[in-house]
Amino acid sequence: MYFVDGHCDSLTLALSKGEDLYDHSGHLSIEKLARFAPSVQVFAIWLSDEQVAAAYESTVEIMNHARGVFDANSAYIRLATSYDDIARNIDERVCSAILGLEGGEPIGGDMGRLHDLHARGLRVLTLTWNRDNELSGSIAAPDAGGLTAFGREVVAECGRLGALVDVSHISKRGFWDVAETAVRPFFASHSNCKAIASHKRNIDDEQIRAIASRGGVVGVNFCDAFLSDSPSPDMDDVLRHIGHIINIGGVECTALGGDLDGISPPESGWFEDVTVFKSLYERVAKLHGSSSADKIFFGNYLRMFKEAMK
Ligand SMILES: [Zn+2]
Repeated sequence: MYFVDGHCDSLTLALSKGEDLYDHSGHLSIEKLARFAPSVQVFAIWLSDEQVAAAYESTVEIMNHARGVFDANSAYIRLATSYDDIARNIDERVCSAILGLEGGEPIGGDMGRLHDLHARGLRVLTLTWNRDNELSGSIAAPDAGGLTAFGREVVAECGRLGALVDVSHISKRGFWDVAETAVRPFFASHSNCKAIASHKRNIDDEQIRAIASRGGVVGVNFCDAFLSDSPSPDMDDVLRHIGHIINIGGVECTALGGDLDGISPPESGWFEDVTVFKSLYERVAKLHGSSSADKIFFGNYLRMFKEAMK
């Protein structure tokens, strides 16, 4: 089996630890991912508070580093900037890396920077992380506002450029502003269901329906706090979120965004690393059938990338 996963922090975690992504000691390394070739992974560029002071320069530096990493490992994984790139990599049985930005701080208020980052290969823009920024309020910030006027322009420009807009972490008002503004499918790369776990990072049924109605997907996150209000969630809880998204938005909007290397090891120990996707696939296929499992594990993302990425 292979899979498409909408969000991991492995690139920036390995870099901050001074480790090689090929044999990185975290949840996900190129070596482990390559066992599931031709899988597709979105690698988020996440900036610490210190890096955010020079957000644009830090991002360009990380993107240059990423290119070097993927070039050095092109036998296993290649940077993809279009659906055609992904399709070619699938044909050649190598993994695809998609670069995402977790928080719009590097763009600041300058559209030229969005164009520049897109030209450098950025294809996913998570509008906010846990801080408000020039584009929108974050769900983690008190009294968070919605999209700014500039944020609306950025969402529209992403549609023209062919970069995916990601609403994980955004404020509720920001979410609905995106739903009103976006001209292409948008997605929640690593967000779970509020109906199952009450964490404020989770999204409600109306939001799931809005994403589904636009051809987007919701990527289920493996973070304990987002999976359950009870301690020690496990794979059963992941299956509960998958089942709920299927019920509310349909199987076509159900996907994965494990947040590997962005979250702490699970208290229950239900997963150790990215190889868990294999047993998760088997459970999902048993519950929902293999054709639904194939949509959840790769088909839905591929459909969305085909429609919105260039
Ligand atoms: Zn995140």
